[in-house]
Amino acid sequence: MRTLKKIFDQNKEWAKNVISADPDFFKKLSEQQNPEYLWIGCSDSRVPANQISGMLPGEVFVHRNIANIVSHTDLNCLSVIQYGVEVLKIKHIIVCGHYGCGGVKAAWEDKENGLIDNWLRNIQDVQRFHQTELDCFHTEKEKLDRLCELNVIEQVVNVCRTTIVQGAWKLNQELAIHGWMYNVEDGILKDLDICITNKAEIPDKLLPGMCCSLACDSAL
Ligand code: ZN
Repeated sequence: MRTLKKIFDQNKEWAKNVISADPDFFKKLSEQQNPEYLWIGCSDSRVPANQISGMLPGEVFVHRNIANIVSHTDLNCLSVIQYGVEVLKIKHIIVCGHYGCGGVKAAWEDKENGLIDNWLRNIQDVQRFHQTELDCFHTEKEKLDRLCELNVIEQVVNVCRTTIVQGAWKLNQELAIHGWMYNVEDGILKDLDICITNKAEIPDKLLPGMCCSLACDSAL
């Protein structure tokens, strides 16, 4: 019970398999990590960055929290971004949300869940900014799916607005910020077609009119 033997057994098996594919794998990684990607994703157990992206240890620097939020007062997330950008010199920051996100759903339902409600407030802000667009969707599922996407887009903008990312761009450091979604129902990643590579590309407002008209057209 105390040692969780099953996990240690699985770990030995995993390490053995990795070594059989590449005998120097751990030796090389123990000397340094050199990831090109920083993944900011949800803590949901169904959305593990390495597995769903097919990346090995050493290839992706990861920060996860409930509903993949980038808050300007979150020292933990900001520290990860700073270390990733300034020390590891990662080239891509990926904010990856997922459909069926329990955090987004809890924010939407606005029930009392205790301490976490303070965190979910960030998503309720996203909802408030985009309520007009969300109202265009007819079903609860469509509204929630779109809120999951809008949350990613807003967090991408939050990443872009950090002093860390803006400082890197000022130094002409190559750095792109992406917004992706993961579908827990089929395991497939979707690019939200948001890729910001400099300050001028940060949208003041995220095309709510366009998104709204798309939603309304689909309802006709
Ligand atoms: Zn989630």
